[in-house]
Amino acid sequence: MRLIVSDIPEDGLELETDVAVETGENAEPDSAHASLRLSRIGKRVLVDGSIQISVSMRCSRCLGDFSYPLDIAFQEEYIPAEELDTKGDHELTGGELNIGFYRNDELDTGELVKEQVLLGVPMKPLCSRDCRGICPECGINLNEGFCNCSAEKIDPRLAPLKRFMKSNND
Ligand SMILES: [Zn+2]
Ligand SMILES: [Zn+2]
Repeated sequence: MRLIVSDIPEDGLELETDVAVETGENAEPDSAHASLRLSRIGKRVLVDGSIQISVSMRCSRCLGDFSYPLDIAFQEEYIPAEELDTKGDHELTGGELNIGFYRNDELDTGELVKEQVLLGVPMKPLCSRDCRGICPECGINLNEGFCNCSAEKIDPRLAPLKRFMKSNND
C-alpha cells in the first residue's frame, strides 16, 4: 500500500495490512500481518509497528522445509530521500532510531513490512537447534532415520588429504 506522506494526519494514523513476502529463492510468498502506527512531524514519518509472519524456510542442515514464526516489533523513522540528495552535509540525528527513506512524497508500507521481515529472517535457518542434518554419504535425513554409513569411513582418494590436514592440526 502506498501512502501519500503529506496526507498523513499530524496526529497520526493507524493501519492494519497484510503483505505477501517472498523470503526464499523458491519459496511461495508468506503472508505477513502488520499493525502500523504512523505519525508525522513535517516531512519526517515515525512508524511504530508490529509484524507477525510464519516464514516458510528450508533448513540449511537437513534441507527439510519448516515454518519459522516471527514476531517483530520495530520503530523506524522515514525521511525524504531528496533531502539527502540536496544537502550533502545533512546530519542524521536519529539517535538509536533506524532511519529509512521515501521518495516522491510516497511511503510504501508493503516495502517497509518486507524490509523488516527480511531483517528478521535467519541467514542459516535450522529446523531445530539439534537438527542432525543429512548423511554426507547416502544423503538420508538423519532426523528421520539412521543409516549404516560409518563416519570413520574415508574415501581412499581423500586419505592423503586427510593425513595432510591432520598433520597440519597437530
Ligand atoms: Zn534440519
Ligand atoms: Zn548414510
